[in-house]
Order: sequence, then structure tokens, then C-alpha cells
Amino acid sequence: MSSTGGTIRKKAAFACSLAALMLASASHAQTDFKVTLLGTASPAPRVDRFGPSTLVEAGEQKLLFDAGRGVPIRLRQLNVPIGKITALFITHYHSDHTSGIPDVWLTGWLSAPYGRRTAPFRVIGPVGAKALMSNLEKAYALDIKIRIEDEKLPQEGIATAVEEFDKDGVVYDNNGVKVIAFAVEHGAAIKPAVGYRVEYKGRSVTLSGDTRYDENVVKHGTGTDLLIHEVGSARPELLATSVPVQRIIAHHTTPREAGQVFSRAKPKMAVYAHIVLLSSDKIPEPTLEEIVAEVNRTKLWLQNEQLSFWERQMKVRGRELERAQAELFSARLSKIQQASAAQQMAVQRAHHAIREAEEKLRVLKKWGRELENRTDPMVKEIEQLHGFISTDMSRAISYLNEIIKSLQAYSELSAGLPSAPTARAAESPDPPLVEPSSEKLP
Ligand SMILES: [Zn+2]
Ligand SMILES: [Zn+2]
Repeated sequence: MSSTGGTIRKKAAFACSLAALMLASASHAQTDFKVTLLGTASPAPRVDRFGPSTLVEAGEQKLLFDAGRGVPIRLRQLNVPIGKITALFITHYHSDHTSGIPDVWLTGWLSAPYGRRTAPFRVIGPVGAKALMSNLEKAYALDIKIRIEDEKLPQEGIATAVEEFDKDGVVYDNNGVKVIAFAVEHGAAIKPAVGYRVEYKGRSVTLSGDTRYDENVVKHGTGTDLLIHEVGSARPELLATSVPVQRIIAHHTTPREAGQVFSRAKPKMAVYAHIVLLSSDKIPEPTLEEIVAEVNRTKLWLQNEQLSFWERQMKVRGRELERAQAELFSARLSKIQQASAAQQMAVQRAHHAIREAEEKLRVLKKWGRELENRTDPMVKEIEQLHGFISTDMSRAISYLNEIIKSLQAYSELSAGLPSAPTARAAESPDPPLVEPSSEKLP
């Protein structure tokens, strides 16, 4: 039972974190550089996704990027002791990225196997990290005092070591692991806001943080192995009518813009995290299919609108060239030398315009082909993932229900026997699908 249960639990956990499945394949090549999306939601409380947080494991080091809602639960699912986090990196100070910090900090200090931190809790972030942590120390002063007195927990384990930075550059360099911070544009009032690039053994992962379309993400994400990008989407009818929704979407990157970032930065793999799906009482949030359709629309826009514009330009400019050449020809015939010089200039200008249109067309066609190459695998993966959620998940659950039924039948059959096993499954008809207990794992 334990191995079957373990598989199902793993599948269920994957379903919780949209991109964990895709990342699993990324980690095959180099097993000691591993990225896990612990949470891919936004401030919206959701049952299917926890708050924003990403765990990057490089060798022995465990780096946590943001700590949103539920992080200690997700770490426990992975069997990663909360007290063993090497350092926490903060992207910005929106509460959805920081509300899990006191939980990671305080729970990681407890004497249970998931805690036991004995060195100061290391926090690295843009300006604001020191104020945040010292205020948390004040807020939890009584709990800290009580646990030191009552549980004899070590004082050093609850201390904090905070480093702040105010410009782009290396913010962490330890034992072959380098972390580079770079500013991103999350909104005029939302400052500071940064993304990070982690480098280890010639590989890299880049996290956009919360941002609008930003050239700095393209710059630091160029050629990265894994680009984790945020995305925000609302149905067009909601976007057209709601000012608050317009404001929120303006702070984020639309699927169309993310497609442009991916096509320019050319990461080996791109995944979405911090998926902001907006809705109202009347208009539901966009679905995964609609986000995929949006990516496809980007391709169509590039291929049709831009391409047809420059194709039209080619025709217009071609006609201009013909006209200029005809004028030059007739001017030569009539041997009016001065006019002929002016007309030669006109022909040159028309040639130049044609060359410009040809170059634009060439670039657009190349861009279109590359975008297709990059987005097609992404679209396929999203479709596969969606297929997995709608088919395999329900298969897994019905399979589990079958097991429970046969256990119940077995317990009923053997109820009268002296060595009857206790009907565990019957006692808990709700199996721990998303909360695996490490003790039960093989
Ligand atoms: Zn956020
Ligand atoms: Zn934010």
C-alpha cells in the first residue's frame, strides 16, 4: 500500500503546483541542482495552489525565494527540514510574498526534526528586509522569550542575519552558488522589486519576481536553463470594464508579453509561476486553455498583422521604386541633367525603403519561426499537464477509492476474526492526498 499511496500522493502534490511536473524533467540532467515551485498563486487564497515561493537546491544549499502562504507545509511534503533553509531571498514586500516568513523563521527553530535551526536565520533582500525582520522580532518577542525559557531552544537559532542591497549585482556567493539580483518594474509605487538569477556548475535558473514586461528580465534571463516567469490574465470583458482589474494587470506580465520575453531571452525551459487569474462575481477567471490561446494569438499577431503590414509595405515601396525609375528613365531620355540627379536620389531612396522592408520581413519571419519553435513545446506541456489534471488525477482518485472500498470490504469480512486489522481507510474516508506524512513514506 505504501508505494502505491506514495505515487498517488506525489501525483496529487504535482497537481497542486502547476509547474512542478515540468521541472521534474529539468532536474534529470543534474540531480544536485533542483528547482521546486512550492507555490504559484498570488494573494488570492486558493485550494489548488499555495502562495508564491520557490526552492532552489544547489548541492547542500537550500535557497528559498519568497515565502508566501503555506511554505512550511510544502517543505514538509518534500521532506526538506524547515530549519535547514540556507538563506531566504525576498523579491519585494507585497504580503503574498512575505506572509510565510514568520512561519518559516519560527517553525524552523522548533526542536522537532523539521526544525532545529541553531544558526541565525539568513535573509537577503532589497532595502526593507531589515525593517521587516526587526519588526517581526518585536511582534514575536513574547513567543521567543517563552520558548527559550520553557523549551530551552537556542537563542542563536532565532536570531536573524539580514543583508540588504540597492542595486543590481551579486548578492550571494557561497561554495559555487552565485545569486545575482536585478531590478524589475512591478509598478511606479511598488518599489523596490527585484528578480534573481542563480548560477551553479555552469547552469542557471532565473526568477522574474513580480513584474510587468521588463527588459531586465530578458537581459538576465538570456540563455538561462530555466526561466520562471510571473503571468497575469483576465478575460477581455472584465479587463474592459473594471478599473481595479486594469490596475492589477498593469502590474503584471500578460501571457502575450511573457511569450515575447521567452522568445527574446530564449531560456532552455520557461515556466509560469505567480499565476494571477482575475475574476468578478459575474465573469470567471481565465482557464489554462485561454492562456494557451493567448500565447497562440501572439504568434498569429506576429505572423499575420506584422507580416501583412510589411508585405503591404513591400508592394507600396515597390511601386514607388518603379515610379522613380520611370521618371529617371524619361528624364535621361530628355537629357535634363539636373532633374536627372534629383530623380537618381529618389531611386536611391526607394531602393533604401525596399531594403528596409525586406529586412523587416526577414526578421519578422525568423522571429515568427523561432517563436513557434519555442512556444509549441510550452503549449504542448500545458496541454499535457491539463490532460493529466483532468484524466490521470480522476483516475488516481477513483483508483484510491477502489482501494478504500476493498479495504472496507476486507475489514467487514474479517471483523469477527481475532487478528482482524483495524479499518484505517474506513476511519479516514478522506485519504491524505495533498498532505503526505513522511512517516508513512517508504
Ligand atoms: Zn505577488
Ligand atoms: Zn507583487
